[in-house]
Amino acid sequence: MPVQREYDGAGTPEVQVGETAFAEGEERLDRQHQSDSVVGVAAAGDGPSCQPGRTAAERITGARPPYAVLRLRVRGAHRRPVPFGVRENGGDPHPYPGRRSVSPTPAVPERADLRADCAGCFGLCCVALPFAVSADFARDKAAGEPCTHLDTDFGCGIHSRLRQEGYRGCTVYDCFGAGQKVSQVTFGGRDWRQAPETAGAMFAVLPVMRQLHELLWYLTEALTLPAAAPVHGELRASLEHTEHLTLGGPDELASLDVAAHRDGVSALLLRVSELVRAGVPGARHQNRRGADLMGARLRRANLRGASLRGALLIAADLTGADLRTADLLGADLRDADLSGADLTDCLFLTQSQLNAAKGDGATRVPRAFVRPAHW
Ligand code: SF4
Repeated sequence: MPVQREYDGAGTPEVQVGETAFAEGEERLDRQHQSDSVVGVAAAGDGPSCQPGRTAAERITGARPPYAVLRLRVRGAHRRPVPFGVRENGGDPHPYPGRRSVSPTPAVPERADLRADCAGCFGLCCVALPFAVSADFARDKAAGEPCTHLDTDFGCGIHSRLRQEGYRGCTVYDCFGAGQKVSQVTFGGRDWRQAPETAGAMFAVLPVMRQLHELLWYLTEALTLPAAAPVHGELRASLEHTEHLTLGGPDELASLDVAAHRDGVSALLLRVSELVRAGVPGARHQNRRGADLMGARLRRANLRGASLRGALLIAADLTGADLRTADLLGADLRDADLSGADLTDCLFLTQSQLNAAKGDGATRVPRAFVRPAHW
């Protein structure tokens, strides 16, 4: 079990032994593939800010997104939390109606498809993953054991008061759309209650799928970056290969060497980061990859184009910091204060990182993200 710094959300972080599951990036992905648990997940926002019938993009812009949003009606699904991107009700066909509908030549995913859609998921994260009593969870739960708050229809019985009930970690977690993929594609829409013989395999596949979808998230972003044009061909190939891997059967997925695949993607993303940041004056000198910046005073710091890959920024004061074009892949932003910070065009940010941080109305977040409700 690797060593990581665990943060209790109330003061100075302490060094403890444990694992994290939801941090992103090279260093954390190295640990993440070993276990996908919710132990040690950081403080979150005021909940998933789930607004029935509206997507994350709609909540930001007030308009319908340009992409086609497909939905599946699942009774009660809106009560289970999702950090962002909830699509529910509306009666449209689900994007994953079953394996038979999936093209053998996988389409390149849109980033909108890499967001949790609880309406199409069988509450997998609420069963498959373990968690431990901490600042983020009110009780212990073993992997494979349904959370006591999980309803029979896979909704969360305390959705509207997760933070008050001590489940802040649930409001941070994001499966990058892996939950609905496993539920509707890998297992063809048969849930683990209807088919309990599939439960073990289904729960084993979730962390694998989540890692693949997380990689898809980064690769999809990289392909939008003009400065990364020299490697767009490799990115496209890697994206298609990763998407192809997600369409494997339960046995294929369970036996997949995700670590090896991730290492290849990671190296590619590093080249993307260097290409993009090379165009930022002074960025080459801003290498803080893996730096221990816990509680650091970085108020109004010029971190434009900096590499903060895997940096520990827990409870750091980043108020007013310039993080434009900064590489934040895997940076631990739990309780980091981003009030007034500028995250425009930052690289490889995830909604989970944002949800775990603090911020305010003056924080500038990239367009693809939802401003956490607790800011
Ligand atoms: S409290 Fe339980 S049921 Fe609700 S979101 Fe968290 S794990 Fe799922």
